[in-house]
Amino acid sequence: MHPFETHIRNVPDFPKPGIVFKDITPLLQERFHEVIEAMAQTIDWDQIDYVVGVESRGFILGAALAELKGKGFIPVRKKGKLPPPVVSESYVLEYGTDHLEMSVNEKPARVVLIDDVLATGGTIKAAMRLCNRNHYEVKEISFLINLAFLNQLKSEGLPVRSVIEY
Ligand code: AMP
Repeated sequence: MHPFETHIRNVPDFPKPGIVFKDITPLLQERFHEVIEAMAQTIDWDQIDYVVGVESRGFILGAALAELKGKGFIPVRKKGKLPPPVVSESYVLEYGTDHLEMSVNEKPARVVLIDDVLATGGTIKAAMRLCNRNHYEVKEISFLINLAFLNQLKSEGLPVRSVIEY
């Protein structure tokens, strides 16, 4: 068992019946520096120009990683939060669809994508499509937690990194 796991709370049936929510709030409170250091070690920083974080826990982790490594930070936001011009991608949720957006970029650059938890992979795949359409090459995708039993991203050959895998 990873030492971080004592600070992760498993919350059954949140936010919906059948989902076991991984609450990282206590972990961020007690071990924030160690968490950021551990995530930083999953990434080959020589090939990264910017850190892209997915709203909203991806902002907490991504911004700290960017600061630690002296890189710029780019937010991927929920629909309607960023002023135009933006690129937008929809992704399928259990009920209906949602949208992620990113400010339009024309300058080619290499990025690492950051989020807290990888579950089915729908969110991060939409974020990848946004990057690819927006001149950002996704070199690595790093999570604090990969719920690997819920997705096939690794076997699909995507460059998935994580600190804790279930
Ligand atoms: P998915 O698109 O299914 O990979 O879901 C990923 C997004 O939903 C991430 O931004 C996570 O923060 C959140 N998420 C999904 N499942 C969980 C879970 N079991 N515990 C905590 N967060 C989750």
